[in-house]
Amino acid sequence: MSRFRPEIESLEPYVPGEQPAAGNNVIKLNTNENSFPPSPRVRDALRVIDTDQLRRYPQPFADDFRAAASEVLGVDKTWILPGNGSDDLLTQLFRAVTGPKRGVTYPAPTYVLYQTLANIQGCAVTEVPYDDTYALPASQLADVGAALTIIANPNSPSGTAASPSELGMLASRVKGILAVDEAYVEFSTGSALDLVREHDHVIVLRTLSKSHGLAGLRLGFAIAQPSLLAGLAKVKDSYNVDAIAAHLGTVAIRDVDYTREVTERIVTARSQLTSTLEDLDFYVWPSQANFILVRPSRCSAEDLYKALKSRNLFVRYFDEPRLANTLRITVGTDEENHTLTETLKELHR
Ligand SMILES: *Cc1c(COP(=O)(O)O)cnc(C)c1O
Repeated sequence: MSRFRPEIESLEPYVPGEQPAAGNNVIKLNTNENSFPPSPRVRDALRVIDTDQLRRYPQPFADDFRAAASEVLGVDKTWILPGNGSDDLLTQLFRAVTGPKRGVTYPAPTYVLYQTLANIQGCAVTEVPYDDTYALPASQLADVGAALTIIANPNSPSGTAASPSELGMLASRVKGILAVDEAYVEFSTGSALDLVREHDHVIVLRTLSKSHGLAGLRLGFAIAQPSLLAGLAKVKDSYNVDAIAAHLGTVAIRDVDYTREVTERIVTARSQLTSTLEDLDFYVWPSQANFILVRPSRCSAEDLYKALKSRNLFVRYFDEPRLANTLRITVGTDEENHTLTETLKELHR
């Protein structure tokens, strides 16, 4: 007899992007981290953390962070549920909503963790394929009638985004819960936040990992009406947000000006990188995130990925038929982007 449930026995473990040992010569453009450091106020706050704070359990709902996020976003704090990264909130969502007779649907290819979480739950997965333009297949998604419909918007790995009005149309047609994973929303032009006010079955997920340069801190949050958040709260770990993450996250989210400055610089660098790669004959999907999906025309993506890696340049290659011959490249600092494009001038000819 197996030691594990059948769902776990057959599970392909989720494989995160490579994390090469931090060295001077590695340029890491494979996991969509922010190329800028977090707000200087985070550094200052970290220096003066009182270790006595660590003796006690943290606030179960990270209330100080909730209050700060509530002010910044202009939604009531009872509409915000913090978590240990948005991955934690996704876990809660799948635990609370899906099961053997309660399936999930999402357009694919997208964030691979959705499939992993579905498999753990043992729920049916209906993947609706994106076409090559990554237009939202809204009618097909609605027709599935799943307990959970989930959209990464902007999507990863394509970087493309559906408009708020397309999502609005989907929200009015979906029967179960509609989750909009807005991990990259600060780099885009629209958000589904207004839909949360109109619909009690819509939930938006945010994270400080990308826009706030705090992937190592592990802090994300959900925004939904209190009736929906109550279901998630039932399945969450009691102390899922640690005291340091809650405190530094509060400082970070309040520094709105810094976040705006950094995200604007990344958006500018994204359009420069896009046009340089187009000049080098790559196809580049229009991105609203801090990364771009590209298709080389003169060699295979896999060969290019390996050649870049041997030069200590890490980008993301997905060994997956629907992403055949593409690479996902995080927008780096100007210097990193320059090194990348100079290297690609040599390799892609
Ligand atoms: C990075 C990412 C996340 C995970 O964010 P964390 O807050 O670091 O857990 C969630 N969804 C998508 C689409 C992402 O790309």
